[in-house]
Amino acid sequence: MPDDKTYLEIDKLILGDAYTSNEPGDNLLVLCDEIGPRLAGTHGERDAARFVADRLKSYGLDNVADEAFDYAGWHRGEPARLNLLQPAEREFPCISLPYCPPTGPDGVAAEIINLGDGAPEAFKRLGGDIRGKIVYVSSRMPPQVHRWVHRGEKYGRAVRAGAVGFIFVNHYDGLLPATGALRFGKAAEIPGIGIARETGEELLRRSKGCKPVVRIITSDTNEPKASCNVVGELTGTQKPEEIIVVGGHYDSHDLCTSANDNAAGLTVVLETARLLAAHRQHLARTVRFIAFGCEEIGLIGSHEYVAAHRDEMPNIRVMFNSDCLTNARPKGLVFHAWPQAEGYVEALAEQLKTPIPFGDIVFAYSDHFPFLLHGVPTANVGNLSNPFAGRGWGHTAADTPDKVSLVDQRESAALLARMILRVANDDEWPLQQRSREEVEALLEAEELIEILDIEDARSLDDE
Ligand SMILES: [Zn+2]
Repeated sequence: MPDDKTYLEIDKLILGDAYTSNEPGDNLLVLCDEIGPRLAGTHGERDAARFVADRLKSYGLDNVADEAFDYAGWHRGEPARLNLLQPAEREFPCISLPYCPPTGPDGVAAEIINLGDGAPEAFKRLGGDIRGKIVYVSSRMPPQVHRWVHRGEKYGRAVRAGAVGFIFVNHYDGLLPATGALRFGKAAEIPGIGIARETGEELLRRSKGCKPVVRIITSDTNEPKASCNVVGELTGTQKPEEIIVVGGHYDSHDLCTSANDNAAGLTVVLETARLLAAHRQHLARTVRFIAFGCEEIGLIGSHEYVAAHRDEMPNIRVMFNSDCLTNARPKGLVFHAWPQAEGYVEALAEQLKTPIPFGDIVFAYSDHFPFLLHGVPTANVGNLSNPFAGRGWGHTAADTPDKVSLVDQRESAALLARMILRVANDDEWPLQQRSREEVEALLEAEELIEILDIEDARSLDDE
């Protein structure tokens, strides 16, 4: 990349602006305290979309618009109930998980089968014993499996094995049930609930020596709904058809204000837009900002986006995704199987005179993934040394704005703005898009074809 002295002068202005503004902190409090929970299909989600569009317009972005889509939605009914029936009678607090079907007033009653941390081999080992039972599984990552074993995979394996119910036990302390969708963008087959770690321990303790029988009652409904992605851009001055995407989801869960996941990540998208808008005359290529709807219930907004913009996918140089800000520092980039980006990131770090930790893993559970399926180079803003920092509070009532640091918001946005200034102008870009065959080979190598099938999630054939 050219070592242009103009960039250094713009860097000073961007950094000065970022570190003397409270804009991301203010935006965080609007999202969390004024708007509140932003679950797909609720007023909160719609209010957040309005807020994002207003902010992008106020920063002077071009073509600010909602891009609406319909989807299979979910509505939380009466609070779910969990009763131990044998060997003792006792009611425990629980929550139903998104896309849970209604059980009817009599609920589903069956013996519990404990699958521990839900390793694939545990499902294989217990095989036929699972049929007709309620699977009890922790949110913990099985240590012997060297990849993320998502809740959706554990649920999918339970359904395949013939379970009639699913209990997802948080593995963090704090009397906090963790939420999260059972299926992605479609009604789930068997009822699934979340309980706190301590609740799960008590349930097992009270059934010591016996096989616990429990009843789950849920009354949620699966129904058609509509949402939108909110888009705005800084049109490139020389090659406007070539695009750099900066995205993050604006929806959340309903138990909490979802400050880290992803109000804070969204404020970084907005702040990057604000910082770069002041220097838009220096952007040769277009920088497009996208706030995605319905991420938490199945990456629905980002899948809809790539489907609606299929023709533009080959023109996207890179997609930067901002999901879960976390307190991991320094901020860097975690690419998704793009080792050839490392040298470029090192050169950026040298020119920016700041460390930019480089990471490279494949991960299917955020809005970069539909872009990855189309061959687009993608990276998350973050730090691989602690990629899931904050996950202990994430998806629980404790994901609150007091845990978000303005330092992290400023550092992420300033870094993105300074990097994009180079990426948008550089005529030499090291990353060629992957062909469909290369994407397929990558998914195969990462076992993702099988896992996405178990999860009944959208995969390459749906794109
Ligand atoms: Zn998220």
